[in-house]
Amino acid sequence: MRQVVIVGTGPAGLTAAIYTARANLQPLVIEGPEPGGQLTTTTEVENFPGFPQGIMGPELMDHMRKQAERFGAEFVRGWVTEVRFSERPFTLLVDGIGPITTNAVILSTGASAKLLGIPGEKEYVGRGVSTCATCDGFFYRGKKIIVVGGGDSAMEEAVFLTKFADEVTIVHRRNEFRASKIMQDRARANPKIRFLLNREPVEITGRDGKVNALTVRNKTTNELEILPTDGIFVAIGHRPNTSFLQGQVETDELGYIIVQPGTSMTNVEGVFACGDVQDHRYRQAITAAASGCMAALDCERYLEKMNAAAVL
Ligand code: NAP
Repeated sequence: MRQVVIVGTGPAGLTAAIYTARANLQPLVIEGPEPGGQLTTTTEVENFPGFPQGIMGPELMDHMRKQAERFGAEFVRGWVTEVRFSERPFTLLVDGIGPITTNAVILSTGASAKLLGIPGEKEYVGRGVSTCATCDGFFYRGKKIIVVGGGDSAMEEAVFLTKFADEVTIVHRRNEFRASKIMQDRARANPKIRFLLNREPVEITGRDGKVNALTVRNKTTNELEILPTDGIFVAIGHRPNTSFLQGQVETDELGYIIVQPGTSMTNVEGVFACGDVQDHRYRQAITAAASGCMAALDCERYLEKMNAAAVL
């Protein structure tokens, strides 16, 4: 039986692991399908305090993991398929590992990239459709690429992809961007980037098993346009990874876990949440890490109280 199990290994989960490990709680950390979380799919992180020259996302996550291991956090690879929070100790069913019982749980499963949901998209994932410029940009040296989206991610991915591609077109469904001014300015200043606004993606098509075009509806003329391309990077935001909870923890209508304001406490005593799985407002590595620290401290206090009550 465990004192605490941490589910997810982004900045939130790893910070919770560092703190709970240093508090001698010997946390078990379950690494899901994307170890290190979203920062492993990003390039240079310029705004994480302590790195004046910036640091690559995967490197930062690697540092955090090693720091947690140094204090005794134990890592296992697995997929949590079911949770049982109605009985104590809690049980987590983990694919390939079996049931794990624990007094407390810290949920830090983050959020995953959204897809457009248009014909051809799923069919061509990995064959011209990608949600990760860092992972796949290399394959597009000298090619023409489309980035779909109008937020900071779309701008960032487009700028990054110009390292490889000859031409990057940002396709956005509205006339205005959601992205911050600084990110927009960076994209606009890049001579390899062009913009196609007010275009709604409708279909992805290919030839010989590879993407060759994105069809969009021009919302001004209502006409369909076929945009030839070698690759399509979908950068339209994320959705929280909470379906495995099957409603046992309270979430909002978008699926983000609801925590008591100013804490990491969920509606289930002994279950804590941190990082993007409970935050769709800030979504920064530093806010995720900070909330991971909060979850660890909340958890530590909860276990202290629980263990003290058991002694009496
Ligand atoms: P976001 O801000 O939610 O933007 C998503 C974009 O995709 C929006 O422009 C949206 O269009 C578009 N979109 C959504 N669904 C679509 C669909 N079905 N078809 C076509 N377009 C669709 O997501 P994000 O860009 O991933 O950013 C998330 C958060 O991370 C933000 O807070 C951002 O500031 C932060 N971030 C920061 C950095 C950085 O500072 N380095 C980098 C990346 C992300 P509408 O505008 O029409 O809704």
